[in-house]
Amino acid sequence: MEYNKNFNEVSFKLGSTRSVIREIFEYAKIRSEKIGKENVFDFSIGNPSVPAPENVKKKLIDIISNTDPVVLHGYSSAQGDLQVRQKIASYITSTYNAEMTADNIYMTCGAAASLTISLRALLNSGEEVITFAPYFTEYKVFVEASGGVLKIIPPNDDFSLDLKKFAETINENTKAVIINSPNNPSGAVYSAKTIEELSNILREKSELYDRHIFLITDEPYRELVYGNEEVPYITNYYDDSIVCYSFSKSLSLPGERIGYIAVSPKMKLNKEVYASICGAGRALGYVCAPVLFQRLIAGCLGETSDISIYAKNRDILYNALKNYGYECVKPSGAFYLFVKALEDDAKKFCETAKKYELLLVPGDDFGCHGYVRIAYCVSTEMIERSLPSFKKLAEEYRTKA
Ligand code: PLP
Repeated sequence: MEYNKNFNEVSFKLGSTRSVIREIFEYAKIRSEKIGKENVFDFSIGNPSVPAPENVKKKLIDIISNTDPVVLHGYSSAQGDLQVRQKIASYITSTYNAEMTADNIYMTCGAAASLTISLRALLNSGEEVITFAPYFTEYKVFVEASGGVLKIIPPNDDFSLDLKKFAETINENTKAVIINSPNNPSGAVYSAKTIEELSNILREKSELYDRHIFLITDEPYRELVYGNEEVPYITNYYDDSIVCYSFSKSLSLPGERIGYIAVSPKMKLNKEVYASICGAGRALGYVCAPVLFQRLIAGCLGETSDISIYAKNRDILYNALKNYGYECVKPSGAFYLFVKALEDDAKKFCETAKKYELLLVPGDDFGCHGYVRIAYCVSTEMIERSLPSFKKLAEEYRTKA
């Protein structure tokens, strides 16, 4: 297939090439048909393996049984049902001690929609958005689709943020910054101290360039943290902040497409930015997020699927890989391990891993060369069965060396 002028060039290019993750995910399906699903170790995609909590099913049945079908399947307000937004706002206020009102909440079809709407709401053509590697691969697509330019800050060795480089990169054309914590793919969780330092830099630079620099936090993994980790709530640190939230991972509902945007009420321009978000949602056709699931999540705020299973998977995989000689930083959250490939070229390493039916994602598209992502949101049993293959893969490289 080749581009011709009958359709949009950028969209055609995006649609006719798959993301590297999808590519491997599709390969896994074909391979499973050939040699049996149980013989393929597919670590490619971040699809939660833990079912949604039982309460999700109960609430759904209750909502379907007890709501007038005309209302149930009808449109809500473009920005989402008022009562749902009120419940979310009071949940945020009481849980994070962060003032929030229904007028600051916009219901969306998941974090991807939250991000695309927020970026469309903020960006004028050619303005820059900064993010930190490793980063979710779609940021580049989302930023460029809104006419922006994505600037990437490489990480420190432990995947913490290089704030010196960050400060140097901000210029008079910087409009927004995206951070993602807990992080996909590194599993890093940024501490309150880091967020405070980052906020100080942004305040200083906003003053220097006499413009608002917005901080967008991408938070589909907020609740997926292990041990005593805490994820700071950004509106408590920086006024020009926007939270892009999703229930895809916390409640294991990625197929239902439900999330929200929360604009900090402390933002001076919060009414204007909220209006722009409503306009962006309208322009993108993202009005009225799925109504059944708006109602559902309003009754499940604060609940999560059984995260202890991901914690167990993390420990089994991390300990085994360290034992076999792989290098990786222990993740504090999300459900990914970001492991150093056993050769410089991570793509080649992933090809070699395929010999052992291990399907891993090269880190290049996340902005880090020489790493691979392993999504451990799979069954614990599959992780246990995959360990001999990881061991053999390490041995192959050891004998080569
Ligand atoms: N942001 C990050 C960091 C993600 O990992 C994902 C999905 O995996 C998304 C956004 C998109 O989430 P959603 O399915 O809620 O649109």
